Amino acid sequence: MTTTKTTCPYCGVGCGVLATKIGDGKVSVKGDPEHPANFGKLCSKGLTLAETLVPQGRLTYPMIANERVSWDAAIARVAEKFATTIRDHGPDSVAFYVSGQLLTEDYYVANKLMKGFIGSANIDTNSRLCMASAVAGHKRAFGADIVPCNYEDLEEADLVVLVGSNLAWCHPILFQRLQAAREKRGTKLVVIDPRRTASAEGADLFLGITSGSDVALFNGLLRQLYLRGEFDPAFVFSHTSGLSEALLASREWTTEGVAAATGLKQTDVEAFYALFAAHEKIVTAFSMGVNQSASGTDKVNAIINCHLLTGRIGKAGAGPFSITGQPNAMGGREVGGMANMLAAHMDIANPVHRDAVQKFWASPHIPEKEGLKAVDMFQAVGEDKIKALWIMGTNPAVSLPDSGSIAAALKRCDFVVVSDVMAQTETTQYAHVLLPAQGWGEKDGTVTNSERRISRQRSFLAPEGEARPDWKIICDIAEAMGFDGFGYEGPAEIFAEHVGLSEVQNNGTRLLNLEDWKGQDFEALMPTQWGGRRPFVDGIFQTHDGRARFVPTLFKPVTIDEGKYTLNTGRIRDQWHTMTRTGLVPKLFSHRAEPYIEISPAAATSLGLHPADLAEISGEHGKSIARILITQTVRDGDVFQPMHWTSQFASQALANGNTSPAVDPFSGQPALKSSAVSIAKKAIAWHGCGIALGPLELLTCYWAKAPLLEGFAFECADEKFPADWLAFSGSLMSLEASEISTVLTGDQASFRCVARKNGKLIFAFFASAQPVEVSRAWLHQQLGSDVQSVQVLSGRPAAGVLDHGPIICSCNGVGRNLIKRAVYDTHGATLSAICEKTNAGMGCGSCRPEVQRIITEISATRIAAE
Ligand code: SF4
Repeated sequence: MTTTKTTCPYCGVGCGVLATKIGDGKVSVKGDPEHPANFGKLCSKGLTLAETLVPQGRLTYPMIANERVSWDAAIARVAEKFATTIRDHGPDSVAFYVSGQLLTEDYYVANKLMKGFIGSANIDTNSRLCMASAVAGHKRAFGADIVPCNYEDLEEADLVVLVGSNLAWCHPILFQRLQAAREKRGTKLVVIDPRRTASAEGADLFLGITSGSDVALFNGLLRQLYLRGEFDPAFVFSHTSGLSEALLASREWTTEGVAAATGLKQTDVEAFYALFAAHEKIVTAFSMGVNQSASGTDKVNAIINCHLLTGRIGKAGAGPFSITGQPNAMGGREVGGMANMLAAHMDIANPVHRDAVQKFWASPHIPEKEGLKAVDMFQAVGEDKIKALWIMGTNPAVSLPDSGSIAAALKRCDFVVVSDVMAQTETTQYAHVLLPAQGWGEKDGTVTNSERRISRQRSFLAPEGEARPDWKIICDIAEAMGFDGFGYEGPAEIFAEHVGLSEVQNNGTRLLNLEDWKGQDFEALMPTQWGGRRPFVDGIFQTHDGRARFVPTLFKPVTIDEGKYTLNTGRIRDQWHTMTRTGLVPKLFSHRAEPYIEISPAAATSLGLHPADLAEISGEHGKSIARILITQTVRDGDVFQPMHWTSQFASQALANGNTSPAVDPFSGQPALKSSAVSIAKKAIAWHGCGIALGPLELLTCYWAKAPLLEGFAFECADEKFPADWLAFSGSLMSLEASEISTVLTGDQASFRCVARKNGKLIFAFFASAQPVEVSRAWLHQQLGSDVQSVQVLSGRPAAGVLDHGPIICSCNGVGRNLIKRAVYDTHGATLSAICEKTNAGMGCGSCRPEVQRIITEISATRIAAE
């Protein structure tokens, strides 16, 4: 058995993974105890990585017009079409849309090809959706895109402020590190978010602000800190500039004004300001809730301003900390994989930098102006300004805002190339040429995590079919276009060139200098941070005068028309992006198996919505359907919809069908968290749910499906009853049954059907006029078992057997009812005691905040009753 040290391909925490081949082509995966990001721990997604290493759904050979072709033919076709488009329409008529899933070496050569040889800056990335506002904010304040913190700072801080970051679900291992530190040293936690997320469970202060009002809150903090004299005059005097202008922009933000703008109680605003003033070691960690906004860059700078004023930067346990979404968004930034960057933290607008990069690459061109950022790029595709587009490792027809217009643009584009791991995505259907890329476990290179740590992603599997590494595909096409400088032997050579470029024209002017990596054995690279342990420790920033800049920031309220709701989109605990990988793992659907939308009780009442109804969510351009989840965790005017579901898993669930293409003016990052939508109850005659062995083809009605260990679970609904329930059920069954049992009520409005074959349950279907009350978790476990039909028809376990209820802990399959019973049985038990008793939270630990929430709810009910 050989074990390979590699890195998790999901989020920006960048956890180290040990992958071991255990025979029969199987792989086991566990956390790398030596990796400084995770010290051996992995979240639910990382722990199930081995289950994604299957051939199912892979793109295994190149295709032109849906016909299999050789690599030579595909490369020749792409090279010829890009070359003729450039010849006929100029370099800006082509574009690359790349991905934070790419390795740094892939990004490096893609950027080199587009900017250095094609001569356009039309290369942008899905990282634009993730952290472009943080990049723009860093550059405005520090003069360069530098994240000043380390993960240890979260453990060394006395106060951690999470802003627009559901760390508990989106970066679970970092949240666990924070929670461990809180238990050990009593770190205070403030959570600022329009939603009371799992991260807010147990926080010292939760500020449920109005969507988009962060700038008002932090401008008010800046003003208060200054007025109270709670700042560091020596630091401000010696290391910053622009305070007066920032204070001027903040002058109107009294605590009363802040309370009015943010929708918070004035006492809560004051409590936050007092906490910030009282602690020296403060980390303000922020993510998509800050970045994905029409004023995302100002939000970032409003946060940074407060750290500059107090000198809480460049010190242990202190600083503004952008936590990146994607595994290699940071690596892409380092090599200039965005339309407004050059490479190695050099600037397109700087002629010295342009000259230096061009000489280093020995390239014929270098663009003098920025290229098109993601949203503008697809608009240009739709307007026929971009005529040849290459999409690498991403699914923009799902993930970009106003996804309907993205699909329309792709449909009309002259020439679309998609290189991807998966064959069927919303985007691959528009490709004229499909190129199979290697996936995690096959490809080889480096990634950089949120704390600037470069780690190796190593290959331990043979590629599936004819899949090739992205860097190789790009270089082959560059050479076929007649360009020199792309004849690399492998990723080590590309990484060495990246190291070399980081030193060019540097002389200490750019912190991104990888000279320490020079001459190192690529195979043996250990996870190492660039920029040293403590950027800005000397108070020297990368502006021309070495001073950090205060930036005056402007509060722009999100305005939503009367009668509409503010749609907040985001991630859930156990899924990743558009489910192309996590969608292969049954366990990861056990927590949330169907597209849903969270709405407050008051809003639900006013719309006549009841729990588990279906709702139509209508944006300016599109519409989706989701199950209603009524919860106190969202504000009355807001709704929250996860962004993961695609047409592979549900009939009409694209959250981004409803989102607006509005962007931040500085970063170009879309405002994915504040679109205006209408919500209406969907008229439904019947709701259904079921399980089926074998393939499941659903229907013309509403449906959602989730994989089980064998077969699928499904939900469905329709506006009219089928003419014949038995025939309808039969249309869902792909295996022939030897025994079918049914129950039909006299009014034909409720139907249950159970089918077995050779004594095993192969199918069950339940339908009724109301949302079906069947124990899903129990039902899903019965598929393929010898359970009696009569028991299945009842829709729940036998009398005396506890129905565990909806799954909370997906690692160990522990349901809500079991946890509740444990809490009732053990009055006053701690979280750890309940976890030990029920086994919830004893796997990856990501569900612990939800277990805590159940304990808190029951305790509150008890206190109210007493
Ligand atoms: Fe992967 Fe989870 Fe670690 Fe993120 S926190 S890198 S998803 S294991």
